[in-house]
Amino acid sequence: MKIPFNKPYQCPDEREYVTQALESGRLAGNNAYAQKVQEHLKQKHKLKNVYLVPSGTSALEMGVWLAGLKPGDEVILPSYTFSSTANAIILTGAKPVFCEVDPVTMNADPAHAKSLVTDKTKMLLPIDYAGLPCDIDGFSAIAKDFDLLLMIDAAQSYGSYYQEQACGSFGELSTFSFHETKNISCGEGGALIVNNPNWIERAHFLQEKGTDRRLVLYGQKSKYHWVDIGSSFLLSDILAALLLAQLEYEDDLLALRTKVTNAYTDLFEQYHAQGLISITPYSDNARLNSHAFWVIFDSEQNKNGFLTQLKERDVYAYIGYMPLHSSPMGQSLGYRAEDLPITDSVGKRIARLPLYAELAEHGLDYCLEQMARVMKDIYGF
Ligand SMILES: *Cc1c(COP(=O)(O)O)cnc(C)c1O
Repeated sequence: MKIPFNKPYQCPDEREYVTQALESGRLAGNNAYAQKVQEHLKQKHKLKNVYLVPSGTSALEMGVWLAGLKPGDEVILPSYTFSSTANAIILTGAKPVFCEVDPVTMNADPAHAKSLVTDKTKMLLPIDYAGLPCDIDGFSAIAKDFDLLLMIDAAQSYGSYYQEQACGSFGELSTFSFHETKNISCGEGGALIVNNPNWIERAHFLQEKGTDRRLVLYGQKSKYHWVDIGSSFLLSDILAALLLAQLEYEDDLLALRTKVTNAYTDLFEQYHAQGLISITPYSDNARLNSHAFWVIFDSEQNKNGFLTQLKERDVYAYIGYMPLHSSPMGQSLGYRAEDLPITDSVGKRIARLPLYAELAEHGLDYCLEQMARVMKDIYGF
């Protein structure tokens, strides 16, 4: 039996909605299904001002333009993230400044971020790693003290809550991804959530190639004009249809994923209790979307052994991010691996376990059995 790392789930109404979108003849962005998706996010998680875009990457790009980043500005983000978080900054001419992670939460460490603030710093850009909300109170406080913008890369945290408020609703801006590897997926897709009310209108211009086309659609103008910078930050309604079918099934998907994360916690807790590994933590002030489950081993060698032995048993766990500061691009910005020793160390020892909704229905027992055997081989119990 093969257990892949990830597998997209097919939800009940996907084909029907996609067919309806095709038959409607309105295939471009911001049409009927986009509106239904926006309505769903509002009803379900009180998320307002949602702009559906082609990817989590483009949501970050639209966000940094909207925030007005300029050459010479500095943005503080964790090194432990995906390339897109840093690329969005670089594309504006601003400079990414990498901070450490907290090795328990694997999220950006606000204390270290604070130590990196200069008079050029314009924005803080933490991520919600594995669906765990970052320290939003901590980052909001720094943003307030130093008059900085806060944008959150919430690509992985759709459906998670921080102090009873949905991820996506924090900061001036938050971004989601609906990529195939995320909890809710339409293949490629994303959303920018604009929480700063002053930016709502301009966000429409940026999304629609720098035009005020939207005002024409709403009858406020008879012709549309080129009024701003912009790009084509739009999700086709065919994909919005697929996304809606997934969203309508989100409670079921979450229940299935949670079954898997609970089983992993049960299995790995005993090693954690002995201080041999650490695992995805629980938090009193957050509710998690079970996006990912990680194990941080006591050595790189044990992590490698774990991954290799599982692979021999056809179970595909995976390494985490390659830290950005020590990547070829990070080095070209002047960083060395030892500049962020915590990130460097945990980055080498972390493994992410297979996690997808269907695993709860099919294969979980096999997967757990293989993991238990491999852990026994490594740690002797
Ligand atoms: C997935 C992901 C992205 C990119 O999203 P895409 O939809 O693949 O463009 C950006 N940041 C983080 C933290 C992610 O996990």
